[in-house]
Amino acid sequence: MNLDKLAFIDAELEASRQAGTYIQIRTIESAQGPTLRINGREVLNFCSNNYLGLANHPRLAEAAAESIRRYGIGPAAVRSISGTMSLHVELERRLARFKGAEAVLAVQSGFVANQAVIPALAGEGDLIISDALNHASIIDGVRLSKAERGVYAHGDLGELEQRLYEAAAKKFRRVLVITDGVFSMDGDIAPLPGIVDLCERFGAILMVDDAHGEGVLGRGGRGIADHFGLQGRVDIEVGTLSKAFGVVGGLVAGKAKLIEFLRQKSRPFLFSSAMTVPDAAASLAAVGLLEESTVLVDRLWENSRYFKSEMQRLGFDTGKSETPITPVMLGEAERAQEFSRKLFELGVFAMAITFPTVPRGAARIRVMISANHERRHLEQGLEAFEQVGREMGVV
Ligand code: PMP
Repeated sequence: MNLDKLAFIDAELEASRQAGTYIQIRTIESAQGPTLRINGREVLNFCSNNYLGLANHPRLAEAAAESIRRYGIGPAAVRSISGTMSLHVELERRLARFKGAEAVLAVQSGFVANQAVIPALAGEGDLIISDALNHASIIDGVRLSKAERGVYAHGDLGELEQRLYEAAAKKFRRVLVITDGVFSMDGDIAPLPGIVDLCERFGAILMVDDAHGEGVLGRGGRGIADHFGLQGRVDIEVGTLSKAFGVVGGLVAGKAKLIEFLRQKSRPFLFSSAMTVPDAAASLAAVGLLEESTVLVDRLWENSRYFKSEMQRLGFDTGKSETPITPVMLGEAERAQEFSRKLFELGVFAMAITFPTVPRGAARIRVMISANHERRHLEQGLEAFEQVGREMGVV
């Protein structure tokens, strides 16, 4: 037989090209800054999760370099065998202090953190109730669990209450409620005070993925629980070191016994090697910077408020955003792709986000604002948006 067994791949890739959902991956040839070099050309960076500009911060780079000189690169093993180095322990202690949590577990990424927590906490006889717009890593973590699943409409406290009522009648062993803190495609914030009240009333365990709130929300970037004054009332906070912290890694914060339990039970902790030495050292430096000063977090918010209000003044729809994540709603996928292409021609790199990442007909450009954008960068971005917006009849 001479059949191409992989012919379905050509068909599927062609289908996504036709639907305007094919992702064009750009290669960055420079450091991660307010501008980037792509194809030899300098473009404005409106795409990175580098909220505080730490990805290329000299203090982090120096900490990483120094740690490499002392400890090398690799952790050489999984944490539970010989991969737990003093740097990991120190990072966990400092992150716990920063977040006001009893303890923290540091893992390889935010994605991994969700796989580490969810299947460890909920299994057969349990129920997981999840917000409809939760991140893919939560969805996959839920799929890995043997628990029953339920979904409530995005941010809908009434529906969450209904699900919790139904669950109470069915006598599950445990009920775990999971929500993103900041929703990564819309930039809105979960109604956490209401969710906390419901979980307390029904005795459900509450887990919040604060990937986009860590280093952004709360006093000096301490996260969503701090933002709402709910410290100690969120059972599990998952976070990432890959966005505002400027490195790569994930964290789980909570009671000491929860973290001890995860060290015994969580599979990515037990079966995948630890964060690397430079990642751990750079993350420690990031925590230090955040503890020292709120300057970067303050600048991030100042930039975000300015950009968003100017975009609205120009007539753009920035959706439900309450954070530096600024969606520019455009409708159909092809339209968003075309808008992004035209922006790129004007030297502005801002990605189109299309189905399946967001619902069909809700395609958008997502602008990620950073503390390292200067006013001239924001002005350049606004001018390009205005020009393309007029050209395409959006504003
Ligand atoms: N959770 C959420 C809500 C996210 O937005 C992301 C990143 N896209 C992750 C988890 C994964 O984090 P990381 O990149 O550290 O794996």
